[in-house]
Amino acid sequence: MYLENPVFNARYIEPNISWYVSYFRGNRGIARVWREPITWVLKKFFLKSYFQKRVAQGKVDIPYLELVLTTKCTLRCESCNNLMQYFSSKNQYTCTLEGILESLDCLLENVESIQRLRIIGGEPLMFKDLPQLVAALEQREKVRSFDVLTNGTIGFKEALLQEIKKAKKFRKVSISDYSNAPNLKIPLKQESIFKSLKAYKIPYSFLTGGIWYKVEKIYKRNRTKEGIIANFHACGMSCVSLMSGDVRKNQSKVKAGGGAIFVCPIASSLSKLKGIEEFSGDYIALEKGDLRDRIFSFYAQDFFKSCDYCQDWSKPKENIPAAIQADSVLEIGEDRD
Ligand code: SF4
Ligand code: SF4
Repeated sequence: MYLENPVFNARYIEPNISWYVSYFRGNRGIARVWREPITWVLKKFFLKSYFQKRVAQGKVDIPYLELVLTTKCTLRCESCNNLMQYFSSKNQYTCTLEGILESLDCLLENVESIQRLRIIGGEPLMFKDLPQLVAALEQREKVRSFDVLTNGTIGFKEALLQEIKKAKKFRKVSISDYSNAPNLKIPLKQESIFKSLKAYKIPYSFLTGGIWYKVEKIYKRNRTKEGIIANFHACGMSCVSLMSGDVRKNQSKVKAGGGAIFVCPIASSLSKLKGIEEFSGDYIALEKGDLRDRIFSFYAQDFFKSCDYCQDWSKPKENIPAAIQADSVLEIGEDRD
């Protein structure tokens, strides 16, 4: 039934194929001369039926997953797509190492692989056990590759550099370039980060560009169900994200460790900001039971209550400079005001 569902194909089958293709094609270089045609043949004749067959066999391959470690950040970008501008010291989420691993392990027991995992925040370098997390991810066989995204305001400590260096599945550090942001309140440490990553021969990419689109205020729009589904389709966000049980234990009497997977970081942050009860049906609760089927069903779903809180993604987006800072914490309203 899932294989005939266009949403499932777009959210699950196609991203799995894309990941496999990019992995096989590899980095730029001479090997691409022979890898490129093989990749084309794989994509054209093999990969779709391969992943479809695995679904029919009940085998689950998560194409991409973001691990949200904390909502704390050194910056407060007005148009942060993860909604960090709405968190204050009173409502922050930070997982524990045990909590995030317990949630991840619950997921891993029920899937064959996570193809690509990204460590995010807020700012993930504010998570004190990041070296231990890197070591733990490296040990989990079903995690095929992982990387980390940082805003370039915190230097890499020795322990972290050493663990990343040892991790064979670690792909790269991605560093956002906010050097043209108009009103940053703290200095960037890009040069010293480059230097330490080079010293340890750790691959990295510098995400230059400097133009974002404006993220409008988040509030419940009270759209119709059809309107909410339409907004989901217009958005095209593919960043499925996992929060540990620490997001649920304060809010819904769920034991710690039973984390959840959300359609995107906006949805995971909303669950913390508004209370997860408001978003029943939106997320996969990481508990024992029919988890495989719930994962497939999640990828076939196109109605998420959280999509009612987002701006109308079918309208043209307004470009703005990256990382404009908000002066104070924003508040989510019930309506426009
Ligand atoms: S640096 Fe800005 S965009 Fe990135 S997580 Fe922090 S607040 Fe959000
Ligand atoms: S909440 Fe829905 S509409 Fe908003 S970014 Fe996430 S998937 Fe897109």
